[in-house]
Amino acid sequence: MPQPKLILAPGRERSLERRHPWVFASAVARVEGAPQSGDTVDIVSARGQFLARAAYSHPSQIRARVWSWNSDEAIDAAFLRRRLAAAIASRRMLNLPSDGMRLVHAESDGLPGVVVDQYGNALVLQCLSWGAERWREPVADALMELCQPEVIIERSDADVRELEGLPPRVGLLRGKQPTGPLLVTEAGLQFEVDLSGGHKTGFYLDQCANRMLAGSLAAGREVLDCFSYTGGFAAQALRGGAAHVTLVDDSAAALELAARNLAHNSLPAGKAEFIDGDAFQVLRRFRDAGRQFDMVILDPPKFAPTRATAERAARGYKDINLLALKLLRLGGLLLTFSCSGGVDAALFQKIVAGAALDAGVDARILHRMSQGGDHPVALNFPEGEYLKGLVIEVS
Ligand code: SAH
Repeated sequence: MPQPKLILAPGRERSLERRHPWVFASAVARVEGAPQSGDTVDIVSARGQFLARAAYSHPSQIRARVWSWNSDEAIDAAFLRRRLAAAIASRRMLNLPSDGMRLVHAESDGLPGVVVDQYGNALVLQCLSWGAERWREPVADALMELCQPEVIIERSDADVRELEGLPPRVGLLRGKQPTGPLLVTEAGLQFEVDLSGGHKTGFYLDQCANRMLAGSLAAGREVLDCFSYTGGFAAQALRGGAAHVTLVDDSAAALELAARNLAHNSLPAGKAEFIDGDAFQVLRRFRDAGRQFDMVILDPPKFAPTRATAERAARGYKDINLLALKLLRLGGLLLTFSCSGGVDAALFQKIVAGAALDAGVDARILHRMSQGGDHPVALNFPEGEYLKGLVIEVS
């Protein structure tokens, strides 16, 4: 049976010619054959020229995601294994100071919708597109062979599954569920990770290098870790010699885990304060009470998943950054992040500059931060870049 085809409207081949791996529904003129979601289809220009081989997704506005630009390449278990092996080899080369890392970063590793995180001997798989869903079992088999983990947990419960019309799925995929708590080592510190119930796949692996940077800047400082989750920044700050850390999060469970994480590393509990509350309100309360810090970390959740929501997100970022800047003593440091795909680095910097102006402080950028190298960004897929951060010094 011939491969089903998506024939594009005239002129709509341009983004594929630049090797952008998404085919939007609006670009498709007609479908030949009767592909089911997850099936492999050939993408063909209006003039009949082969462009790419892709996974079809009927419910999604991203109607197909490219597996290969090569008309000779079959999409099968061997293909997936090759791509997985290449991604994993690239991570091994990085020599990260952690036994937790993202092994496979979806489109940026040529595996749209496939995300694999490693936590020591455990792997966590996310299938976030129809193509990933279709090849789930061969992907799990290849990961067993390539990494020999004790367990693979599936965490296909990210919101983006909804856009594909896929229900959430969480569970054991291979091996045995670990009995005790799972600890991951990051730059000399151990963190307990809840693989089945934690955020994302359990830990914010993308912040590893930035947490280390925070630790290296923290000596003697009074630190406010806002949106602390399980205390990654606070722990590195304490290890770096911070005088005191205040953790703020609106998840009581995350704060409990943060407290355990300090204990796992024999970090002084007496130097830590945990506040369960809305960061916007807590920051205002601190401002009204005249509380001051020498370092503030702002690592909020995604305010703007898409460009369309960027404006509302911008107000949120401006608000918290303005408040945070007002809490800093002279010489204080603000480590501020945005993981919103809809807010790019230039816009984020503009928002923070506006916040500094309104806060009436002189401030400069000491460092620019991004996601770690285990979250690579394919040059043909700028959407893969989502995390940006600034180290700002108030002078
Ligand atoms: N810095 C963390 C990751 C932060 S993730 C790390 O390095 O691991 C964002 C966190 O913000 C989550 O823990 C979430 O519970 C929390 N959160 C979301 N909205 C919040 C709000 N309005 N106030 C306080 N915390 C919030």
